[in-house]
Amino acid sequence: MKFIPKKPREGINVSDVHPLVEAGTLVVGLTAIFAIIALALIFIIEIALYFVPAEAEAKLFSGWLPEDLVTVSPADERLYQTQLLVDRLASHWAEAPYEFRVEIDDSDLSNAMALPGGLIIVTQGLLDQVESENELAFVLGHELGHFRNRDHLRALGRGIMISLFFAVLTGNDVAGLGIKTADITLRGFSREQESRADEFGLAVVYAEYGHVNQASRLFERWQATNGDASRFVSYLSTHPEAGDRVANLRAIALRDGWETEGEITGLSW
Ligand SMILES: [Zn+2]
Repeated sequence: MKFIPKKPREGINVSDVHPLVEAGTLVVGLTAIFAIIALALIFIIEIALYFVPAEAEAKLFSGWLPEDLVTVSPADERLYQTQLLVDRLASHWAEAPYEFRVEIDDSDLSNAMALPGGLIIVTQGLLDQVESENELAFVLGHELGHFRNRDHLRALGRGIMISLFFAVLTGNDVAGLGIKTADITLRGFSREQESRADEFGLAVVYAEYGHVNQASRLFERWQATNGDASRFVSYLSTHPEAGDRVANLRAIALRDGWETEGEITGLSW
């Protein structure tokens, strides 16, 4: 038998599909893949939160402090009194999975933060600004609201949340995560998260005092200070506009029929 070589047909290296159609398929395919990855990233925090229950988080972070925090002396009177106030306020949240710990940041700038494991940080600057226990109670109640909604973990960002997720899975130490206050304070919460925390904070204040008088007095004073805002600009960078909050808090009190007049409790320092 004689072998008769056959010529390959023309255009064997060229696809039968039009190049524009091929390019289109590629673009559509890649877009779909990116969309799926983006969606997964949005849900990954919710997934990680689900697998890191508040109890596990509290255990993991017990005794933990951000690496860069400068605290006041453990014998500080304001620290002691603020811790007592947090304990009183938290008693109105029956199933709180955290044992709240207060630390005072030795900074002149006003701020308050909710950190992993039930750690609440208030600054010296904020304590200098409050004029009644009722004012301070609302600021603290608002932070309790962030724990309630677990906003404080969402604010950590995906990178840390994923590390936290693996720390829980492998039983590792959180010290390895190296979380600094800047990781938390640089990220503000959404308007929605803030107003939910305000609502919870006001409910806690009402439960404690039987009225919400002066709950937003601090913000009213800040609102009135048109000039020098440098002392509280730090708090406002991570919280909503003082004026908006005053109006919202009034609306919540009116809606729920909470007494807006009542006896003011002085600060105990
Ligand atoms: Zn907040």
